[in-house]
Amino acid sequence: MEKKLAICPGSFDPITNGHLDIIRRGAKIFDEVIVVVFNNSAKKPLFTAEERAELIRESVKNIPNVKVDISDGLLVEYAKKSNADAILRGLRAVSDFEYEMQITSMNKRLEPNIETFFMMTNTQYSYLSSSIVKEVARYNGNIDDLVPEVVAQALKEKFKR
Ligand code: ADP
Repeated sequence: MEKKLAICPGSFDPITNGHLDIIRRGAKIFDEVIVVVFNNSAKKPLFTAEERAELIRESVKNIPNVKVDISDGLLVEYAKKSNADAILRGLRAVSDFEYEMQITSMNKRLEPNIETFFMMTNTQYSYLSSSIVKEVARYNGNIDDLVPEVVAQALKEKFKR
């Protein structure tokens, strides 16, 4: 049977344990998962795309069927080019729903053959976001349970005063 490939797109600025939970669980369902760092033009990132990809690589290095990549193009183009079967996204609270619905409808319009799969986050990560992690880290708060260790370190470096 043909291998099933999922693309897990996002800004990952930086990757959190919530993202990681979705990636881990996705890697059990799909044969291969490619986590792709995209530059969301609406956001001003703290980490460069290279830095974000490197932090993801470190965080997923013990999951053999997960790869990491960077793209500055359109998600559906990336998915088509890589012959992906699905786009994998995480859903936290109801607040994610409208945004995800909008993106998914647009992607479907651009590329009708690609399906988007949503996974509900584990409740412990429902209120976890990259933005809130950055905000807490900026003021020296403890984020150790919320992000992989390499990310906690990288945030400390960024906000070192
Ligand atoms: P984007 O800029 O595309 O929203 P993000 O890096 O913020 O990128 O999120 C990428 C994906 O990970 C999205 O599907 C988002 O809903 C999901 N996600 C973000 N935080 C969590 C979390 N704590 N638990 C589960 N999924 C999450």
